[in-house]
Amino acid sequence: MSPQREEARREHIQLHMEGALRARDRVGVQDFVLLDAHTSEAAFLDNLRKRFHHNLIYTYIGTLLVSVNPYQELGIYTVSQMELYQGVNFFELPPHVYAIADNAYRMMCSELSNHFILISGESGAGKTEASKKILQYFAVTCPMTESLQVARDRLLLSNPVLEAFGNAKTLRNDNSSRFGKYMDIQFDFKGVPVGGHIISYLIEKSRVVHQNTGERNFHIFYQLLQGGGHELLSRLGLEPDPQLYRYLSQGHCARESSIDDKNDWKTVSNAFSIIDFTEDDLENLFGIIASVLHLGNIRFEENPQGCAIIPHSHEIKWVAKLLGAPPSILLEALTHRKIEAQTEEVVCPLTLALALYARDAVAKAVYERAFTWLVSKINSSLVNKDFTKKTVIGLLDIYGFEVFDKNGFEQFCINYCNEKLQQLLIERTLKAEQAEYKLEGIEWEPIQYFNNKIICDLVEERHKGIISILDEECIRPGPATDLSFLEKLEEKVGRHAHFQTRKLADPKGRKRIGWMDFCLFHYAGEVTYCTRGFLEKNNDLLYRHLKEVLCRSRNPILSECFLPAELKNRRRPPTVGTQFKNSLSSLLEILTAKEPSYIRCIKPNEQKEPSKFDDFLIRHQVKYLGLMEHLRVRRAGFAYRRKYEHFLQRYKSLCPDTWPHWHGPAAEGVERLVKYIGYKPQEYKLGRTKIFIRFARTLFATEDAFEFSK
Ligand code: ADP
Ligand code: MG
Repeated sequence: MSPQREEARREHIQLHMEGALRARDRVGVQDFVLLDAHTSEAAFLDNLRKRFHHNLIYTYIGTLLVSVNPYQELGIYTVSQMELYQGVNFFELPPHVYAIADNAYRMMCSELSNHFILISGESGAGKTEASKKILQYFAVTCPMTESLQVARDRLLLSNPVLEAFGNAKTLRNDNSSRFGKYMDIQFDFKGVPVGGHIISYLIEKSRVVHQNTGERNFHIFYQLLQGGGHELLSRLGLEPDPQLYRYLSQGHCARESSIDDKNDWKTVSNAFSIIDFTEDDLENLFGIIASVLHLGNIRFEENPQGCAIIPHSHEIKWVAKLLGAPPSILLEALTHRKIEAQTEEVVCPLTLALALYARDAVAKAVYERAFTWLVSKINSSLVNKDFTKKTVIGLLDIYGFEVFDKNGFEQFCINYCNEKLQQLLIERTLKAEQAEYKLEGIEWEPIQYFNNKIICDLVEERHKGIISILDEECIRPGPATDLSFLEKLEEKVGRHAHFQTRKLADPKGRKRIGWMDFCLFHYAGEVTYCTRGFLEKNNDLLYRHLKEVLCRSRNPILSECFLPAELKNRRRPPTVGTQFKNSLSSLLEILTAKEPSYIRCIKPNEQKEPSKFDDFLIRHQVKYLGLMEHLRVRRAGFAYRRKYEHFLQRYKSLCPDTWPHWHGPAAEGVERLVKYIGYKPQEYKLGRTKIFIRFARTLFATEDAFEFSK
C-alpha cells in the first residue's frame, strides 16, 4: 500500500469510528459508561428514556445489564435472536439478556467455573420473565443429547408448577412471585444441561388466609376450581365458584380477565406429568389445597362462656377427611389449646379470636409445608446422579427492595435480604476490580462507596442486632408486645446512626414516625416499619394441639412434612427471622463461590402500560438499585479488558504492522495497533497480560472499524 493510500485508509477508519458513535447517540448509548464524564442522574434517565422509546429495553453499565419492562411483546426472544447471540462477544451486539446468559455460559465452559446471575428489581420489573428467558436460552442453544431431553423439559416445566403455587395476582403484578427463588442449572463438561436444583425463600404464607383488595390468593386455588373438573372437585368436596370461599374472595377479584385459570390448569397438569408426579402425589397435594379452602369456610361462634364453638360440621368433616385426621380430634384441636402445667397437660378452650388465629395458622402451615414438599419433589426429579463433575449457572430471582405506605415484618425481611445482596455486589465488584488492577500493575485510586455492612450488622448481629432483640422478646416470659419490642429497640440500638424511632426523632417532629414505628436508613433510602405484628409473625406459632393432629395425619405429604420428632422436641423451633437470616447466610455462601453477573430490572410505570416512562418512579429505582454508584465504580475503572493475544488476533487487520502476522510479543503488537488506530492515552492502559480499555465506546468503535475494514 502506498503511503498516501495508507493515510487515507487510516483517516477513513478513524472517521468511521466517529460516525459510528454519532449514530449510536441518536438512540442513546448502549453502555452508560459511554455517557459524558460527570454523569448526572438526569443524563442517566435521559439515556434510559431515549432507548426505551425506541423499544431498546436493555442497556449495559459495563457488564451489568439494566432492563426496563416493556409491557409488550417485542419480538426479541425468537430462536434466531438466540442464535445471533450464541458464542458472540458481549460487546459486539446490542445489549440483551441473552448476551448475559451466553457470556456466563461461555466462561463456564472455557474455565470450568461456576456462575450466578442475580436478577433484582421491584415487583413487576421483569425479574421472573428475565430468568425464564435465560432458562429458555440455555434450553434452545446448549448442545443436547436425546437422553437428556427429559432433564431439560423438567427444568423448563418446573417453572409453571412453582408459579402456580408460589405466584399470585397483586396490585403491582398479575403474576407476582411471592417467594424468592434460587435455581442452579447443572451442566456436564460438554456444556449439556443435565439437571438442576431449586431453593425457595420465605413464601408469603399470610396470603393464604388474607388478601388485600384487588389481590388474589395463590393461582393454584383458582386453577383447581376452574380446571379441576367435576370428578376431582367432588372428591375434594369443592364447587367451581371461587366466590364461595372466604380465603379466595377477600380481594374481590377472584375472577380476573387477564388470567386464564382454566388454561393455566392444563399447563400445570401437563407439567406435573412430566416432572414425575404420580396420581397419588397429586391427589394428596390437591387434598391439602382443598383442605385450606374448607378451613377458611369454617364458621365459629361464641358460647355464653365466651369460648369458641363450631356450630356446623360440614367443613370440619371435609378438612378431617382431606388432612387424614379424625373429625372429633380436629374439632377439639381447633377450639382448644393444650397447656403444659407442671406435670400434666391441661386442655383449655379458646376464645373466638384465638380460634380464628389457630385456624388461620393451620391453613398457613399446611400450605407452606406443601410448598416446601413440592420444591423438594421437583428437586428429586431434577437431580442427575450420572454426572458427578458438573458446573453450574445459578439464577437468583428474588424480591427487590420494598417501600410501601405501611411496611411490616415482611418488608423488613425483604429489605434486609436486599442489604445483604447489595453488600455482595459492592464487595464483589470492588474487590474483583481492585485485585485485578493490582495484579496487572495498573494504577488505581480506590473508589469511595458506602459500605452497607453497618446496616447488615444492625439487623443481624448476634445478641445485638434487631433480629436477636426481636427473638428475645418472643421468648421472654411475661407480657411481651410489639410495643415492648419497640422499647427494647430504643434501648439497645437507639443510638445507631441508621436507626430512629419517634422518641429519638428530632423534637420538632420533623420526621413523621408513628408511635409503633421505627425507621431504618437503608442503603437504598429510609424506610419506616410499623412493629405491629412483628412478634406474632416472627413467632409463627402453631398450637401444639394442632401440630399433633398434623403429625398424625394420614395424608402422606403431611406425614412427610410434619415429623413426630417435632413434638418430642420441646425446644422452640427457630423463629422466622432467624430462619431467614440463616437461609440468607447460606445463600451468600453459595453465591460467594461463584462468578457473578447482574441484571437490574426497572418498572417503567405503575399501570403496567407499554411505552409509558414515569420519570419519578424510575428515578427512584435507579437510586435504590444503586445504579449511579455502580456506574461511578465502572467509570473509574476500565470497562473492558482483554488478553493481548485475543485483542491482537481479532483486530490485527487494522494495522499494517500487525497484519497479517505479528512476530514480536503480543503486548508490543497491541501497543502499535492501538496507537495506529488513534486510541488516546487516557482511553486505555497496558497491564501485564491484558489491555484495559476505559470506555466501551472505544472498543465498540474498534469493532465497527474492524467490520468496516473487512
Ligand atoms: P417480577 O418478577 O419482577 O415481579 P415479572 O417478570 O413477573 O416481574 O413481570 C411482570 C409482567 O411484565 C409479566 O407478566 C409480563 O407481562 C411483563 N414483562 C416482564 N418482562 C417482559 C419482557 N421482557 N417482555 C415483555 N413483557 C414483559
Ligand atoms: Mg417475579
